[in-house]
Amino acid sequence: MLILKELDTMFGWNGRILRVNLGKKKAVVDGYGAELAKNYLGGRGFAVKILWDELRPGIDPLSPDNKLVFAAGPLTGFALPSSGKMIVAAKSPLTWGYGDGNIGTFAAVHMRKSGYDAVIMEGKSDKPVILFVRDESVEFFNAADFWGLNSFDTERKLAETYGHTVGVLCIGQAGENLVKFANIVSQEGRAGGRPGMGAVMGSKNLKAAVFIGSHELPAADPKEMKDLGAETLRDVLTKANYAFWKRQGTMSTIEWSQENSVLPTLNYREGVFQKADAISGSAMEKIKVSNRGCPQCNMTCGNIVKDSERKGAEPDYENVAMLGSNIGMSNLKQVAALNRVADEYGLDTISLGNVLGFAMEASEKGLIKEKVPWGKFKATQSLIRDIAFRKGDLGNMLADGVYSASQTVGQDSSKWAMHVKGLEISAYDCHTTPGMALAYGTCSIGAHHKDAWVISWEVKAGREGYTAEKVDKVIELQRIRGGVFECLTVCRFPWVELGFELEWYPKLLQAATGVEMSWQDLNVISDRVFNLTRAFWMREYGNRWGSEMDVPPPRWFEEPLTKGSLKGAKLDRAKYDKMLQMYYEKRGWDERGIPRESTLANLGLGNVAKELGAHVSLSS
Ligand code: SF4
Repeated sequence: MLILKELDTMFGWNGRILRVNLGKKKAVVDGYGAELAKNYLGGRGFAVKILWDELRPGIDPLSPDNKLVFAAGPLTGFALPSSGKMIVAAKSPLTWGYGDGNIGTFAAVHMRKSGYDAVIMEGKSDKPVILFVRDESVEFFNAADFWGLNSFDTERKLAETYGHTVGVLCIGQAGENLVKFANIVSQEGRAGGRPGMGAVMGSKNLKAAVFIGSHELPAADPKEMKDLGAETLRDVLTKANYAFWKRQGTMSTIEWSQENSVLPTLNYREGVFQKADAISGSAMEKIKVSNRGCPQCNMTCGNIVKDSERKGAEPDYENVAMLGSNIGMSNLKQVAALNRVADEYGLDTISLGNVLGFAMEASEKGLIKEKVPWGKFKATQSLIRDIAFRKGDLGNMLADGVYSASQTVGQDSSKWAMHVKGLEISAYDCHTTPGMALAYGTCSIGAHHKDAWVISWEVKAGREGYTAEKVDKVIELQRIRGGVFECLTVCRFPWVELGFELEWYPKLLQAATGVEMSWQDLNVISDRVFNLTRAFWMREYGNRWGSEMDVPPPRWFEEPLTKGSLKGAKLDRAKYDKMLQMYYEKRGWDERGIPRESTLANLGLGNVAKELGAHVSLSS
């Protein structure tokens, strides 16, 4: 039950948002009250609320009118399992809808310890700039010596200048060159903001934001917080899968995906890769040199390997599937090198593997003049550089993402341009998994796996059906992972991979904030955030919006798998559409997928309905 009305002092939340005008080089602190905290929690909730309230619809995402939001949750910065994360969000230049991503970074911890739950970046600096926030002090430094550096060198140079304990969010050359899937990078490989958050940062001439905070976070019950912190950290360490997770992290998924015919292969034509063993978790263990991860994590999943250029790289499942099987690469050290190079430039590795696969297929079919062979390391590395620097016709075309590239290439390429709403699909082939296809179709930033990774459940429960049970599962996961975890900005892996119990979270929240919330209460917040995100898209797209926006690409419906034990399988479009309508109904949306007025009103979003009604016709 919510008892926020009784709060006269905020605990857990700092109650302060830093608003930075990059054009004027000025910063002010906005206080906020329990109303925002109780209705949106933090992280994604704060980000979408700020962007909804403050952005004028129709703005160019790469203009000074866009705002870039860094937002953490009320648990960030406390000593709790896997809680060192934050959200980076803006209107996306890739999708022109709501865009965000999460990053595990010391910047999140230091931002909170400086006394801010979020930072809003407004306007555009006339010259490259570095934002430096140390508690109450906010300074702007000339970034001329940093502009042009890759993200790793940027961070190293910043550490030399400001000390090794600072938290940094920065961009590489891809962000500077406004590549539409440039992301924001921290700690040499932790990256987030797939839908072009790095390009938004670049468009503002903001090379890096540096945080160092020294304040104690205000916990409602400091003793309970300390006890729960110790108990939960111990709980994680004693989970059955802990040792294996530390050895392989997400890399074990390569083997699982191969076994289950969902490993994206040759631009999602197939779900099995002949040389999957060579890029598997076991293969990775042979070249692994150390382990690293996000702050405040005691189950760190980053595997550092020596790549083919004898440098340290941090491959994980998504990177290896997208830069390995999806583009026909089977030398893991080389895949790791591509992974590292992408991180250095600040290119999202998922979207990158996707546009590369598209280019390789277009080349094979003779639809582009350039020769882009499958699985060739040097040629691929060189193309990645062209994308990061927007060099040449091909590099420049791919830098705008796969949807835009397919519009340029034409012919039938839109059928195998693998995206939803303009965001490239991440590393699960869905020829045989309608539930996961629905998760991609309805994810709030475009085709991303993070909000509802239903595929492992679906493979066990039976992948053939287009059932109400699957729809329910997708919604359940979207609430927990895409809603509550993204608002609290905690990592999903303790729950997903180790079975860390969900019951911990209301307890942790109460100890931090003094607010008692059940999972039912949390799910209502999650639905509010999800519907507001949806409204953001609708406000941007207006009557151009249709249910087609929630449908994955034709390849999965029209071209059956030709290899593996599920050869011949493909999705059924009529059944998918029926399942999508079932999903809309359960969400309280109309047949176009637009939230009904009554649904928004029930979530306390009556004013949102009023404004949205000016852009798109709403059903009651
Ligand atoms: S499990 Fe991995 S992704 Fe999650 S917080 Fe730990 S290091 Fe970061």
